[in-house]
Amino acid sequence: MKILKFGGTSVGSAQRMKDVAKLVLDGEVKIVVLSAMSGTTNSLVEISNYLYKKNADGANEVIGKLEAKYAAHVDELYSTAEYKEKGMELMRERFGYIRSFTNNVFTVFEEKEILSQGELISTGMFNLYLQEQGVESYLLPALEYMRIDKNNEPDTAYIRENLRALLDKNQGYEIYITQGYICRNSFGEVDNLQRGGSDYTASLIGAALLADEIQIWTDIDGMHNNDPRFVEDTKPVKELSFDEAAELAYFGAKILHPTCVLPAKVNNIPVRLLNTMDPQAAGTLISGHQCQDRIAAIAAKDNITALRIKSGRMLLAYGFMRKVFEIFESYKTPIDMITTSEVGVSVTIDNNRHLDDIVDDLKKYGTVEVDKDQVIICIAGDFDATKKGYASKIFNALHDVPIRMISYGGSSHNVSILVSAEDKIATLRALSANLFD
Ligand code: ADP
Ligand code: ASP
Ligand code: MG
Repeated sequence: MKILKFGGTSVGSAQRMKDVAKLVLDGEVKIVVLSAMSGTTNSLVEISNYLYKKNADGANEVIGKLEAKYAAHVDELYSTAEYKEKGMELMRERFGYIRSFTNNVFTVFEEKEILSQGELISTGMFNLYLQEQGVESYLLPALEYMRIDKNNEPDTAYIRENLRALLDKNQGYEIYITQGYICRNSFGEVDNLQRGGSDYTASLIGAALLADEIQIWTDIDGMHNNDPRFVEDTKPVKELSFDEAAELAYFGAKILHPTCVLPAKVNNIPVRLLNTMDPQAAGTLISGHQCQDRIAAIAAKDNITALRIKSGRMLLAYGFMRKVFEIFESYKTPIDMITTSEVGVSVTIDNNRHLDDIVDDLKKYGTVEVDKDQVIICIAGDFDATKKGYASKIFNALHDVPIRMISYGGSSHNVSILVSAEDKIATLRALSANLFD
């Protein structure tokens, strides 16, 4: 069985939904994971922000505009009066639910209910469309099998058991459609897998069912060798290993959700990145195969804060690192990059929620400097320790860029450097020009 995930742009209009239907109808049984139509989750965030500020008028205005857009999509998508009415009924139900939050206390629980509506709407619309076309399709409710645990990690045993039970109970369909992104948490409340999380849904389903392949269909022909939003003439990379893809996704390649490679890697399921607008393009194949001796691609992760802890006592002081790490752990703040010297250590974090407390605690062990607005640039490829020349190639490219940190050797697949946000684009371009041209 294959799992096919279509992102927001891929289902962003009635015509795109029709194109997706053509792509998935090849007679093979499959699971189709859909995101919300593009722009919808952003609108739902906007509605929530108004409601947090108790501005029901602001929220109602956005809701009204969004509902009108969907009414037009419904009119265009279905051809029969019967299905146009079914589509409108779906909208009345979903938008009625969204409106029910505008007059009540608004907390993070209500916000998550609102954020879940985009995927509930897109999958409901697509399922109705297939039914209008006479296709045997079944809507698998993600809220009945997708779950995260107390640490916000996927509860893989629960997902496997419940998803398999649902499929066993509902056999005989050609297409199973399900919502990306949304899930329940350990308390049974509606929750989500973070922005961009539909990719993660697809790989978690792939892992739960030991699928033959996971396909991520999006608006570009695979993982490019640099961020196409900032660098011209980037090219798709034909093949990536799981490790290379994981590094790139984690360090900012938006085409993949940061953690979605792991479930595929653990179960050795190939992941293909494909282009809905150009289905014949080769795209990128992510698998256990590692191409030798090459730089594969570059990505950038924004909003990084660097902390330097300098301690006269670090020299020969065992236990110093542990104490530093324990402080980050106590605030549940992951560290991304780390570099050390005899007198100090620099680390980076991408979550400043507890920054002040962390800095206060670190001051017990030395002086602390904080640099905000930094960017991690990740260069992924095959950098086995026996290979020569990669470091010099990379740093030659960067002779004009001030560098705050360098990390090499953490894995054989990543060289990371930390630069100021203002130098990000120049750094990405200089690397592309020198490494790929
Ligand atoms: P979807 O809505 O299908 O999930 P996303 O917007 O999340 O799509 O991801 C696709 C986008 O990722 C592309 O349009 C592109 O702008 C961006 N992107 C960033 N880095 C890369 C990269 N290295 N290769 C391809 N796309 C990238
Ligand atoms: N709709 C969600 C978002 O916009 C999830 C996704 O698209 O993957 O973040
Ligand atoms: Mg995405």
